[in-house]
Amino acid sequence: MSLTDKTAADLLTLQAKGAATAAEITDAFLAAVRDREPKVRAFMLVDEADARRQAAAVDAKRKAGQPLGRLAGVPVAVKDVLCTKGVRTTCSSKILETFVPPYDAHVVERLKAEDAVLIGKTNMDEFAMGSSTENSAYQTTRNPWDLARIPGGSSGGSAAAVAAGEAPVSLGTDTGGSIRQPAALCGIVGLKPTYGRVSRYGLIAFASSLDQVGPFTRDVTDCALMMEAIAGHDGRDSTSVDRPVPAYTASLNDPVKGLRIGVPKEFFGEGLDAEVGAAVRAALKEYEKQGATLVDVSLPHAPYGLAAYYIVAPAEASSNLARYDGMHYGYRTKEKADLITTYSKTRGEGFGKEVQRRIMIGTYVLSSGYKDAYYVKALKVRRLIKGDYDAAFEKCDVIMGPTTPTAAFKAGEKSDDPLAMYLSDIYTVSCNLAGIPGVSIPCGFTKGGLPIGLQLLSPPFDEEKMLRIARMYEAATDWHTKRPKL
Ligand code: GLN
Repeated sequence: MSLTDKTAADLLTLQAKGAATAAEITDAFLAAVRDREPKVRAFMLVDEADARRQAAAVDAKRKAGQPLGRLAGVPVAVKDVLCTKGVRTTCSSKILETFVPPYDAHVVERLKAEDAVLIGKTNMDEFAMGSSTENSAYQTTRNPWDLARIPGGSSGGSAAAVAAGEAPVSLGTDTGGSIRQPAALCGIVGLKPTYGRVSRYGLIAFASSLDQVGPFTRDVTDCALMMEAIAGHDGRDSTSVDRPVPAYTASLNDPVKGLRIGVPKEFFGEGLDAEVGAAVRAALKEYEKQGATLVDVSLPHAPYGLAAYYIVAPAEASSNLARYDGMHYGYRTKEKADLITTYSKTRGEGFGKEVQRRIMIGTYVLSSGYKDAYYVKALKVRRLIKGDYDAAFEKCDVIMGPTTPTAAFKAGEKSDDPLAMYLSDIYTVSCNLAGIPGVSIPCGFTKGGLPIGLQLLSPPFDEEKMLRIARMYEAATDWHTKRPKL
């Protein structure tokens, strides 16, 4: 097996045994990037020389017998929505084409402190708005399992990079499903932490009450490892919660006894592809085989999740994106004009179609005449959705269902139909509205060879148990060991 087929945990073991150096590992992944990028197009930027320099520093530390971080010598790809000091950060938007942040995001600092090797920035839907990466102003990332299809979005580049073996692990962000949905469509693990578990400092804001940073990995063990690295309190994000970070990797192989799995009927209704539904039901059977009990639960307000999300998220986006005015940083129209015209030309030329659509929806639902009818109503629905989850978790430890209604769709198939695109998040958005954690793990393939994801949702700050539950299934199956042929 080549180095690029390994997990981060494998790579750490190889280095500890002296069987590989950080330099060799980094070179192997950089070679894979060179080889596969023309097909996959997962990266916005790769800095080979800088990656090699970081790897050499790790090897030197090891040689000198200095203490090493928990990700020492592990290459990591980072979504281009996270600020990286001195490294261009575009959000895959034209408006930030030349933006070079003067500081690192908290999670990037954490990766560096753990001696990870940052190899590059990944492609995404512009400002994380989308489900296919087709809204990037620069390129469309392809699904490594079928290059005619999309990898999901908005963190499609980060998901495709891991699935393609261009990086063993990566970071994405999830506002309405942007980690879990692409993880499912690319056949890997993707976790959205509890709101407040991971600092958003240095994450370029889309919808601040929903955004969370989380890992993409090949298996649950690496996911636990990444969570240990990035979770924890940070005073620079006022929503960051000061709560100890469990040793997620330590308990991972302890199966949960007397496990009760909540199965909401709302996740198995109209619109669910038959093959996806069958794979998820088979996964539930596997849990039953291991002694788990399936419990019927109901999330009666789930059908309103998408509608509420597409009011709350654009409302917050319209406010967050007001800062891009061509004055402070980023793109400015070439046209010489008065102030107001400069603003509108800059934004008209700098933002893509979907971002403009969201800003218009957002300002509309917040406007004085309509805010009670839309924004305030959506907040009430959000509260009811949270209440549904609270009630459901009284009867079960975890909720399970499909991550997405279908497997990966073809590039171009939904790009002219925003509503069809929005529907791909039907099972993921309510988790963000409720602030709870969720993870998608591989649970099979369609007859056509496309990956399918199983979604696990847990009570707030219950990531440790959620990962143990995910590991129970993974330990009994081999979906996570499959690699696409590229
Ligand atoms: N696809 C959803 C949207 O377009 C979710 C995006 C995300 O989680 N960043 O808003």
